[in-house]
Amino acid sequence: IPLKNYRNFIIVAHIDHGKSTLSDRLLEITGVVNPTTDNKQVLDKLDVERERGITVKAQTVSMIYHYKGEDYMFHLVDSPGHVDFRLEVIRSYASCQGALLLVDASEGIKAQTVANFYIAYSMNLHLIPIINKIDLDTADIPRAEEQIEETFELLRDDIVHVSAKTGLNVEYILPKIIENIPSPPIEKYHRDLPFRAQIVDSWYDAYVGVIMLVNVVDGSVKKGDKVEFCKTGEKYEVKEVGIMYPDRRALPKLVAGQVAYIIPGFKDPNNVFVGDTLRKVGTNVEPLIGFEEPKPMVFVGAFPADGTDFKKMEESLQHLFLNDRSVVFQRTTSNALGQGWKLGFLGSLHASIFKERLEKEHGKNLIITAPTVPYKVEFKDGKSEIISNPDDFPDGNKKSNVIELFEPFVEALMTFPKEYTGSVMTLCENNRGIQKEVQYLSNGQTLMKYFIPTAHLIDDFFGKLKGVTKGYASLDYDDGGYRPSDIYKMELLVNGESIDALSTVLHKSQIEKNGREFVKRLKEFLRIQQFEVIIQAKANGRIIARETIKARRKDVLAKLHASDISRRKKLLVKQKEGKKQLKSVGKVNISNDAFQAFLRRE
Ligand code: GDP
Ligand code: MG
Repeated sequence: IPLKNYRNFIIVAHIDHGKSTLSDRLLEITGVVNPTTDNKQVLDKLDVERERGITVKAQTVSMIYHYKGEDYMFHLVDSPGHVDFRLEVIRSYASCQGALLLVDASEGIKAQTVANFYIAYSMNLHLIPIINKIDLDTADIPRAEEQIEETFELLRDDIVHVSAKTGLNVEYILPKIIENIPSPPIEKYHRDLPFRAQIVDSWYDAYVGVIMLVNVVDGSVKKGDKVEFCKTGEKYEVKEVGIMYPDRRALPKLVAGQVAYIIPGFKDPNNVFVGDTLRKVGTNVEPLIGFEEPKPMVFVGAFPADGTDFKKMEESLQHLFLNDRSVVFQRTTSNALGQGWKLGFLGSLHASIFKERLEKEHGKNLIITAPTVPYKVEFKDGKSEIISNPDDFPDGNKKSNVIELFEPFVEALMTFPKEYTGSVMTLCENNRGIQKEVQYLSNGQTLMKYFIPTAHLIDDFFGKLKGVTKGYASLDYDDGGYRPSDIYKMELLVNGESIDALSTVLHKSQIEKNGREFVKRLKEFLRIQQFEVIIQAKANGRIIARETIKARRKDVLAKLHASDISRRKKLLVKQKEGKKQLKSVGKVNISNDAFQAFLRRE
């Protein structure tokens, strides 16, 4: 099939607007899957939002379609809809020339439709607007048309009306793809040049080892070819090439314009770097321009509880993160919690997925600190530093070298029914939001853009937004850059000694309230001690709040009858074991449970 008959595209849609269902229908029409197998969502393995599990990856599926006497090769590339995974989205869009923009006829456009539209538009993709679910009683086609026209400036006449569920009109989409989406441009893709491909994604298969999804830009590659990775210089012999149809289907060779898989025949996924260029050994062609590195937006500390094997725990964590190289994983130490790890995530969804998994798999054996965002500090000597551990935030003497402190913001994009506009504005103002844009859409929805401090976004902003809109709001966000901010490090002291793992960075407006709340809460969890304990919150060299715990002797043996010796022994052993579970700060023993309860806000 000649390059001019290739069409590489994605489907852009808000969650539940019918992306998987439409993919099913397209695969049936092109004979990739059998139409008799009813509504199975063949591609639901593509459905990364729902997976909430291991990796959030780009996937692809190929189709061959016969049109006006010619064969066409389609590559439908799937990408995560959530903008936490923005870079993965951009990576998968990079191998496409067009997009199907899918809108639910009864819901109209939503936050993720808009956010992904912007990315597609900025990458010059040709868009085909589609209104889905026209079979629903609640469908309001004219309204959806008006929105598409207004918001995306696409022509009403170009919109295809379909029901992905019943299959109605879906057959009109394929000719549109052929007529309107350009083939991979000949300025960029060359079949007559030496082989060059960009790695879009990679995953691990228990039988064949590493599988790479690549965008073949120049030339061709076949089984037995010797290829090398430009980044590492490592060389391998290609074991298999092919397309996803919808599962792996081996082909004699891959040619420029294809988005397809290569099996290099090794087991270690750490050898593959997404964005790297693959070329044939000895050709020395220039590497393609790589992708932007993922930037973690949320950090947490993780520490093994006493009595847990550090090495074993580290291995287990490494295993968990192997599939997702967008997680930053580094060793760190804390005065209170000992040796542990610093973990960085792309966004709050990403962080919460992993936090959930860590808690499920390691439960009481792992203490996870409160999430923090990366702050920026500019020093007098012109240098600047990004600080992702609150305890490293400049304070006291160190502060005299600082010119300005910055905190990260996101540009939040929200859609919700108009009647909630006032409450959402109040919520944003209360979260130190800065208004950027308010638009009233024709479907009675408001589209609002606010700059929100990332620290507030990760503090369940979406939950709060849903709360004030009876669950009707949708949210998406993009990097909003750094802004100067009046922020301070707040420490928690126990008998005068700071517990580094509980330090936080807070905006001036939150210090008093949080300081009081933190010491109160910590007091609850430290109640039983043998001597008086003073808990304090300190920020900017000043004590904000203070609580005292009166000494209270706890003698487990006092209540026992003297003759009950075996019971007595057991209790002593138990008490000793209990001691092992304690971390000591300022001579005060703090149990793992207390740390966990405090950090989980139980
Ligand atoms: P995705 O999240 O965009 O992949 O959406 P899905 O394809 O999973 O669809 C979400 C829900 O909408 C499912 O329950 C589908 O059965 C339903 N759905 C999809 N297309 C249509 C349609 O054309 N009509 C109706 N009535 N329901 C649809
Ligand atoms: Mg789906």
